[in-house]
Amino acid sequence: MAGTHNHLQVNMIRRHFIAALGGLFLAHSAARAADKPAKIEKLKLSDDEWAKRLTPEAYAVLRHEATERAGSSPLNHEKRRGTFVCAGCDLPLFKSETKYESGTGWPSFYDFIPGSLETKTDFKLIYPRKEYHCARCEGHQGHVFDDGPQPTGRRYCNNGVALKFVPA
Ligand SMILES: [Zn+2]
Repeated sequence: MAGTHNHLQVNMIRRHFIAALGGLFLAHSAARAADKPAKIEKLKLSDDEWAKRLTPEAYAVLRHEATERAGSSPLNHEKRRGTFVCAGCDLPLFKSETKYESGTGWPSFYDFIPGSLETKTDFKLIYPRKEYHCARCEGHQGHVFDDGPQPTGRRYCNNGVALKFVPA
């Protein structure tokens, strides 16, 4: 009788253990899914279509990598909680929590929303700079430098005209 009882207990413990493992596995998968953003479908328009759709200032920056005048963007002073989205296609790029005052005259962030940006190296100045752009419409946003605050140490120096702010 005692033997049967023990056997039952072992079975129950084993079942609980397997259930717990299953739970861990599910929680882990869910976390992984959240980390990894869904693949972003590209938005492709002709240069003419972009010119019609955007303001002249946004068009020059987003489509032809112009740089707005330092200090010209009202977003430099934007301190509310919310999301900064691409002015070309509304893809969310930055959260207000990662915005900081860099003193450069351009809206600056130390991190971006995972998957929302792609980078390339450009040589428009003598030294190489890392250009970044919207992952959906490939509109130019700004350049990333290694002199930002922790925890990333990066500074995403963004043209305000390439962004729209959506308050939370
Ligand atoms: Zn975009």
